[in-house]
Amino acid sequence: MKIQEDTYRHKGLRKKLLDILREKGITDETVLNAMNNIPRHFFMDSALDNIAYEDRAFPISDGQTISQPYTVAYQTQLLQVKANEKILEIGTGSIYQATVLAELGAKVFTIERQKNLFDKTKNYIFKNKYINLKFFYGDGFEGLPTYALFDKIIITAAAPFIPPKLIHQLKTGGYMVLPVNEGENQRMKRLTKKEDGSFDEELFENFSFVPMLAGKNVG
Ligand code: SAH
Repeated sequence: MKIQEDTYRHKGLRKKLLDILREKGITDETVLNAMNNIPRHFFMDSALDNIAYEDRAFPISDGQTISQPYTVAYQTQLLQVKANEKILEIGTGSIYQATVLAELGAKVFTIERQKNLFDKTKNYIFKNKYINLKFFYGDGFEGLPTYALFDKIIITAAAPFIPPKLIHQLKTGGYMVLPVNEGENQRMKRLTKKEDGSFDEELFENFSFVPMLAGKNVG
């Protein structure tokens, strides 16, 4: 296995990226600090090492992407994570977003539907550091009923609609942050679950995600 290093150059590039995120309107310094502590280039192919700190999404494997840093910061900021909260993430992908949540002290449960990507989580570089991060192979539309209720839920793929089973798995007063299809892009939404089981909805910016697909993929 190749050994990855977090050099002064990487750290410098990361600081610049955080300034770009501040300029774009990210204000939560707790989120930015967590991102500062995580070497994003560890989550990407080493061929992309030089550009890992550009504010862009990049391909990982299996036709999937590591989300743009701005998107990760934006969704994490909307989630208002507090230490020890139970958070369900749909769409493990590169594990970068899940790592940011774990760095913030949350108990993270993340689901991936692609077997190849799920299998890679066994070699997760921070396996021993973030024991508060657990990986599951499954369909995010189903959530994780065994581990519910969750304080927060984050979906990191383009949802065709608000998954009803996930609403059921959210605590009263809890947030779900998700991008929902609207035309060619997705509208970022934050739902707050109400006591009667319904939810309030806040609307935010448009983003572009890979699709949230039903069922598991064994390939
Ligand atoms: N959070 C990731 C973003 C990955 S892209 C990161 O930080 O890199 C979205 C991921 O969602 C892809 O890996 C895709 O396979 C996965 N996905 C799509 N539909 C899903 C579903 N129904 N359940 C679980 N994962 C899903």
